[in-house]
Amino acid sequence: MWSVHKFGGTCMGTPQRIQNVADVVLGDSSERKLIIVSAMSKVTDMMYSLVHKAQSRDDSYTEELDKVFEKHMAAAKDLLDGENLARFLSQLHSDISNLRAMLRAIYIAGHATESFSEFVVGHGELWSSQMLSYAVQKSGASCSWMDTREVLVVKPSGPDMVDPDYVESEKRLEKWFSRQPAEIIVATGFIASTAENIPTTLKRDGSDFSAAIIGSLVRARQVTIWTDVDGVFSADPRKVSEAVILSTLSYQEAWEMSYFGANVLHPRTIIPVMKDNIPIVIRNMFNLSAPGTVICKQPANEDADLDACVKSFATIDKLALVNVEGTGMAGVPGTSSAIFSAVKEVGANVIMISQASSEHSICFAVPEKEVAAVSAALHVRFREALAAGRLSKVEVIHDCSILAAVGLRMASTPGVSAILFDALAKANINVRAIAQGCSEYNITVVLKQEDCVRALRAAHSRFFLSKTTLAIGVIGPGLIGATLLNQLRDQVS
Ligand code: ADP
Ligand code: ASP
Ligand code: MG
Repeated sequence: MWSVHKFGGTCMGTPQRIQNVADVVLGDSSERKLIIVSAMSKVTDMMYSLVHKAQSRDDSYTEELDKVFEKHMAAAKDLLDGENLARFLSQLHSDISNLRAMLRAIYIAGHATESFSEFVVGHGELWSSQMLSYAVQKSGASCSWMDTREVLVVKPSGPDMVDPDYVESEKRLEKWFSRQPAEIIVATGFIASTAENIPTTLKRDGSDFSAAIIGSLVRARQVTIWTDVDGVFSADPRKVSEAVILSTLSYQEAWEMSYFGANVLHPRTIIPVMKDNIPIVIRNMFNLSAPGTVICKQPANEDADLDACVKSFATIDKLALVNVEGTGMAGVPGTSSAIFSAVKEVGANVIMISQASSEHSICFAVPEKEVAAVSAALHVRFREALAAGRLSKVEVIHDCSILAAVGLRMASTPGVSAILFDALAKANINVRAIAQGCSEYNITVVLKQEDCVRALRAAHSRFFLSKTTLAIGVIGPGLIGATLLNQLRDQVS
């Protein structure tokens, strides 16, 4: 049976780290291993910047391309030797000279077509995976390199989104295996092809998604995603220092968390593995003794108390809230359909929707960069209703964030929202909109972006730190000590 591993950009960040990755791969005793890798850290950003500079007719793209070349040449020289080093360097030279020609064409035209740009940005994965494959071969193991543009076929399914074509990809994968049987395969993350064989990508951070698709195609025993943290935390550890590691998560919880901004996992990663019930384990490449987080269908040992039913918090920034309001909306069929078809026409991505039961208002959150087009479309669509007063306003509230509380057992546990809103109220945070789907896997609140981190910390500490026991002794309670004791008493009541 196959085991699939994915190594993120930081795991592949230096030649020493690539060697460590090779050691972890060789240490897995599974019969067959498929390894998916990201580009070395920062390389994909550099590749996007090359395209951006060339199409803006900024000729410093040539120096940036030199830097990309030097970074990979230096890494390869450190990591490899002999024939494999020569092979890698000759491929790198040839790729860089093709890219130079392509970027020159983009510079002259002042424009990069989508397929030109997708072709350029995927090179980081081609180079990192080749280096890893040679590093594994150095140990004498049988290892093949796979360019996933030959096997993974995807089709666009929305702005910055693609769907895999499983049937075609499986066919191509079988054909590939028949040509190159090997115990270890090192493959490119992030890149794929369209049905017409044009190179494309799975979009930013897409290597997690690559690993999940391939894991599903080979019906892997497990997909391990190696990154730079001990697993999935109860909140973004960069924002909440007290965040705790979650030992298990259900597919649904992991999906909700990644959808609401926990970038430890690409939001689409769960879909392919969920249908085949393949567990995902998130592990830290820099702390091999940490067991990580297991994501599977029904995690065992769920805690039964109220606080434990909220597993985690996640946030999305740079959003705007659109509020469509008016007495004329009540009981009129088709209003929401008219609103969301106008939104669809401009291709905006609706992240959450909330409607008051009186039907006086419908509000929804969209990315800030899409809100101007949404507002303009709604004003055109409802020109008559606004003029006649059936709608009183189409209002945009800028600079918002979403805070989502996620947990599978929130559904069957009364009182969770009360605790959440109490924590936000105590932190003096104004909630602009609320949504809780029927699935009740999450409660979503919209607030001003400037309040978001404070709200996250307040909510997190209310659910996760409430069990912390503190022993405080106050000696000689004067004014300050007495006030503290009064405050503590108030908190308890
Ligand atoms: P990789 O390059 O390995 O794919 P990413 O940077 O995409 O890594 O994702 C890992 C990062 O996700 C972590 O370094 C961490 O800062 C961030 N992160 C955000 N939310 C969470 C969370 N809830 N749990 C763990 N990590 C999180
Ligand atoms: N290298 C790609 C990116 O940075 C894909 C990935 O690492 O997941 O977006
Ligand atoms: Mg990532």
